[in-house]
Amino acid sequence: MFQLSEEIKGAGSIGISGHIRPDGDCVGSCMALYLYLKKCTGPETEVSVYLEQPADIFAQIADISEIKQPDAATMPPDVFFALDCESSRLGKAERLFDGAGRRINIDHHISNSGCGTVNVIDPTASSTSELVYRLLDKDRIDTEIAKALYIGIIHDTGVFQYSNTSPETLRIAADLVSHGFDFSGLIQETFYEKTYVQNQIMGRALLESILFLHGRGIVSVVDRKVMDFYNAAPQDLDGIASLLKNTRGVECAIFMYETDAMVYKVSMRSSDRVDVAQIASYFGGGGHKKAAGCTMTGTFHDVVNNLSLHIERQLEEA
Ligand code: 5GP
Ligand code: MN
Repeated sequence: MFQLSEEIKGAGSIGISGHIRPDGDCVGSCMALYLYLKKCTGPETEVSVYLEQPADIFAQIADISEIKQPDAATMPPDVFFALDCESSRLGKAERLFDGAGRRINIDHHISNSGCGTVNVIDPTASSTSELVYRLLDKDRIDTEIAKALYIGIIHDTGVFQYSNTSPETLRIAADLVSHGFDFSGLIQETFYEKTYVQNQIMGRALLESILFLHGRGIVSVVDRKVMDFYNAAPQDLDGIASLLKNTRGVECAIFMYETDAMVYKVSMRSSDRVDVAQIASYFGGGGHKKAAGCTMTGTFHDVVNNLSLHIERQLEEA
């Protein structure tokens, strides 16, 4: 049985990090654990959180300005937590994880087989934030910690809509809300609200989307010219894959954007009949059954053809 207090006993330094291009669950779980450990350890323990710059919408999370760049650390810490990913997706923080005395991996991705000396991997959990909640002493959760965990949960469940939402998720959310923050505003400002430019790109991606497999697949792409035109960052594209999936009749949506010439970051969303984690893993990525991603090279048509073959095969088998 994993006991957080036992795992960090005697540590002079603790590091926390999550995946590259951090999403709501990654930022929420890392910041919640950071706030908690700062509060629950003494002055003899230095706690640090390392992440790529989170999107502005997460500015509401307490002490988010204390996030450090991995380059700032000279020595790996005694204990390192990798959250919401396996170590290969930690980016620059990977070397800190690899060098740490105790490596703890907490994740809910089905594609993660555990890369720590201690692993808390549960693909049935809605989010890594839900897993972190389970590990904390409930009496020591305060409003700021609750807010960070709540943000993580709403982002990974699509505000309690996706099928990863369990009765347990809702009970946890109820407990978090009892801390008395403005949950309604938090959902609006961190999940639904978009900038004008984000909405424009989203509209364009929907307008230019193409159906395939007789309407059971849909794909849209944003190339580098469009990214440059709108001066858009990858974070500005969040939510487009799910919107495409909302098309009636579609079993699998593919959204991709060009990161380099003929290199595409692919996001997939699916219904019960297509396991996109399996497809993404085949192409070197990973994720969940209904939401996964990978990076692929080739022309737009190569990428779509390669993915479409796998989607079609799964649909035939289903
Ligand atoms: P998104 O499409 O929103 O970027 O990601 C959907 C899910 O797939 C998330 O849980 C994310 O962590 C995972 N994912 C996306 N891209 C990759 C990837 O390149 N590698 C792995 N292992 N997981 C990914
Ligand atoms: Mn997650």
